[in-house]
Amino acid sequence: MLKEQPHRRYNPLRGDWVLVSPHRTQRPWQGQVEKHAAPAQLQYDPGCYLCPGNSRAGGASNPAYTSTFVFDNDYAALRPDGIEEQLNQDGLLIAESERGICRVICFSPRHDLTVARMEQEEIRRVVDTWTSQYEELSKLPFILSVQIFENRGEMMGASNPHPHCQIWASESLPNELEREQFSQSTHRNSRGTCLLCDYLRLELQAEERVVCENASFAAVVPFWAVWPFETLLLSKRHVTGLDQLDRAERADLAEILKRLTTRYDNLFEVSFPYTMGFHQRPADGEEHPEWHLHAHYYPPLLRSATVRKFMVGYEMLGTPQRDITPEKAAEHLRALSEVHYTSRASIAPTVRKGL
Ligand SMILES: [Zn+2]
Ligand SMILES: [Zn+2]
Ligand SMILES: [Zn+2]
Repeated sequence: MLKEQPHRRYNPLRGDWVLVSPHRTQRPWQGQVEKHAAPAQLQYDPGCYLCPGNSRAGGASNPAYTSTFVFDNDYAALRPDGIEEQLNQDGLLIAESERGICRVICFSPRHDLTVARMEQEEIRRVVDTWTSQYEELSKLPFILSVQIFENRGEMMGASNPHPHCQIWASESLPNELEREQFSQSTHRNSRGTCLLCDYLRLELQAEERVVCENASFAAVVPFWAVWPFETLLLSKRHVTGLDQLDRAERADLAEILKRLTTRYDNLFEVSFPYTMGFHQRPADGEEHPEWHLHAHYYPPLLRSATVRKFMVGYEMLGTPQRDITPEKAAEHLRALSEVHYTSRASIAPTVRKGL
């Protein structure tokens, strides 16, 4: 059934379904590597508002930073001040005030790098910054959720190529976290175990959806993946947040982030666009043993550097759908080299057959 026949798969983390239509990929499908010259990138761009020493909108200037750099977003979607207000009209028109803090983290002073092309030690410093930001923002009494996320590439609406991510810390749980909170606590209450620990065990046994792993983390194309090359990065030990990782695990996280993003870039030999982010326990001071630290990667590309998947039509009105199975997607990602295509000696035009 799972290989040939249309079927739907359940996502126990979100409590919804995805439609899989594997028969639609029976035609030979070619993963095309398009050789369009990538625009030469500068290590420092005088016009970039994230580069060291440059001035930002609103008059602030960046210091001459040499590693990571964190600042409050000049165009923050949330603000820490504000009066608490609520609206409820007939149980239908409901609104409430929302406070929060939005920050930007520059991964590196280098304008031209991406996670895939940074040194592992540099990524490790980014992991440390994520962790200290999570700790710092979690301690604020009005903050319930700390969402760290990276939008990479113009296709994902990231207008600035400078390697950076955002943190939105909010007073309420965002939709996705609320759904996962519900699923994980339901699982723990009914079975006494962790949903994602149980799931990871199944994936490591089956192996067919595992993309890469190290001693502390595994990246899989989840059984219920919606995006063609979506992955889920799971800690092997049951931890509820980045702050519970030990030194070796933080180093392993940096290592697997580099390996996974390198595989992504090598898939179509392009700087792979994606939205990624970490999900961890709510910041209400409770233990939340039901929560399992993980990261989602949602890349939009389908068949080449320019052919993307759209979530339209049936997917907007009904259920998300995919053609290439998660097992096939994992197979393609697993077959790729972990040496970045830009650092290989000769780059001959290639078309990988039979993808
Ligand atoms: Zn820059
Ligand atoms: Zn767990
Ligand atoms: Zn999640």
